[in-house]
Amino acid sequence: MAWAQANVRGTYERYAEQASSLGMTGAQVARTILAKMGVSDVKVESVAGQLTDHYDPSAKAVRLSEGIYNSSSLSAAAIAAHECGHVLQDVEGYQFMNFRASMVPAANLGSQFGPMLVLGGFFLNIAGLINVGIVLFAAALLFHVVTLPVEFDASSRALKLVDRLGILQGEENKGARAVLNAAAWTYVATAVYAGLQLLQYIIIARGRD
Ligand SMILES: [Zn+2]
Repeated sequence: MAWAQANVRGTYERYAEQASSLGMTGAQVARTILAKMGVSDVKVESVAGQLTDHYDPSAKAVRLSEGIYNSSSLSAAAIAAHECGHVLQDVEGYQFMNFRASMVPAANLGSQFGPMLVLGGFFLNIAGLINVGIVLFAAALLFHVVTLPVEFDASSRALKLVDRLGILQGEENKGARAVLNAAAWTYVATAVYAGLQLLQYIIIARGRD
């Protein structure tokens, strides 16, 4: 996970220094894509922080961090286009996105209380508690796994759009791909980490027998 996070930061910073030849800011990239794709009811706003970029389906808003919103770098174009990829998923009713959204409450519950119940069950020597903790944590793992196709699909849509609409030219597309690939690795790392954690809980449960 540390490697994935360092990698995404490094790649992001490298291409954050490289301006696109067209010079569109992240905000302009997002607005252009949405307009060209016929999406008129989603606004593009700036939000505080770094790497806080996201699409909020309930508010119908693409929120870009200030650095992305105002920057005309390859990183900014890639990330702005990625968030528009989520908008298009929403417009199309992309199944994995809906499923992922419906998993949020269970996943929050699972990642918060799953580990507590497993450890509590272990120390109090109550097998049922451990099992409930494992089931809860499995919901959190499922959420991280379902996140993968959603994120990969948004990036693949983004890369096609910036190329097809001429927002990025030639070699610049490679830079955008590198930024989005690095970001994808952080989601893979998170899912793998949660998988290993679940495995550890199962080993703890079995070790009691
Ligand atoms: Zn995303």
